[in-house]
This record gives sequence, structure tokens and C-alpha cells, in this order.
Amino acid sequence: MEREAVEFTADEQPVKVYDAGSGIEAQFLVDWLRGAGIEARIASTAIEPLAGKVPFQIATCPVPVARRDAERALAEVPAFEARLAERGGEAGFCYHCGAALDTRPATCPACAGTLDWS
Ligand SMILES: [Zn+2]
Repeated sequence: MEREAVEFTADEQPVKVYDAGSGIEAQFLVDWLRGAGIEARIASTAIEPLAGKVPFQIATCPVPVARRDAERALAEVPAFEARLAERGGEAGFCYHCGAALDTRPATCPACAGTLDWS
């Protein structure tokens, strides 16, 4: 009479493929993987205890995908990291909404938040 606490099949079991340095970086990876057809999400366990306190200042932000996608997701990580380096770390992201930015605008075109690049 044992009950599974979480109802995942073996293929759906979440596997961490990356520890992002911030929620923004994690969101960028999630978008990146979705672009590659992989359903990823930011681990809710990492965010929920901190919700409303320091959402974008978490030490690391794990990004899990379903086990069946893990191999493909891991294959995407080097390209993602290269792109991240190309952008100069987090400089190319809006730290309000996480939108990827090619320039360093004073206000985010996506959410109109004020950005301070200094
Ligand atoms: Zn924004």
C-alpha cells in the first residue's frame, strides 16, 4: 500500500541540468531550452521559500528538465554559456523582467523598468 509522493513517470522525473547564478540567468536558460523544444522550468523549491524577499538574488537557481530531455538539455548548455559570456554575464538582461537585451537601454523595452548599468 505504498504511495508515491510525487506522480512522475521515470521519463518525467525532474533532473537538474544547470545551476544558474541568478533567477534571470535561469529564466534565460529556460527560454533558451524552450526555443530548442525542451520544456524546462526554474525549480520552484529554490524560489518559494524566498518569494517576496530576494527573488533575483538567490545564490544559485537550479533548472530541471524532465529526465527524457536531460541529455538534449545538457547538450544545449555549452552554447547557452557561450551566449551568456558573449553578453557579458547578466549585463544583457533586464533585472526586472529578465528580458534579453542587446543594448543597455536606460529603460527596459519589455517592462519599462528603469535600468542602472553602472
Ligand atoms: Zn524588463
